[in-house]
Amino acid sequence: MKRASLWPILIGIAVGFATLGIILATAVDSPVADDFAVLASRNLGLPLPNFKRTDMPRDTFGEIRADGKPHEATDIMAARGTPILAIGDGTVTKLFYSRFGGNTVYEFDPQQIYCYYYAHLDGYAPGIGEGMAVHKGDLLGYVGSTGNASPDAPHLHLAIFRLGPLKQWWVGTAINPYPLLMKTLDQQR
Ligand SMILES: [Zn+2]
Repeated sequence: MKRASLWPILIGIAVGFATLGIILATAVDSPVADDFAVLASRNLGLPLPNFKRTDMPRDTFGEIRADGKPHEATDIMAARGTPILAIGDGTVTKLFYSRFGGNTVYEFDPQQIYCYYYAHLDGYAPGIGEGMAVHKGDLLGYVGSTGNASPDAPHLHLAIFRLGPLKQWWVGTAINPYPLLMKTLDQQR
């Protein structure tokens, strides 16, 4: 075989890989058209009973924190031991202790599009476990300061992220919970 005849094959392989790359990139980054609209249509609940606007003084989603990373969550100040309620229907997919988040809950929504993430829990609700289905308003645990939260300022760190194609609890794109909670507060007035 003459060497020159390999080129069409090599070019064909290169084009094949490039096409595959585009397909994979599209699959990995296929955002829901408007996450806010989708989540707003779910009428998410408030994560704490007696939640007041002053418990969440400002939108800190984009703030850069001590570790140099954006906060990508909202913090809700509350007394230690305050019940933490599921903000939507879903499944408790993972209970995890992390250095930053302390005791955490990862709750996937029923469609496995989004994950609701609750951190710094003082402890979990009795009987809560991985794989358990929960409904909006169900007790998940209690406000605390585990992880890197100040013991003087117990709070709930609440995040929402859009899961990736593999639906891994540790992979996602953060979505700001602040305007969604504000919308719920407005509706309750
Ligand atoms: Zn936080």
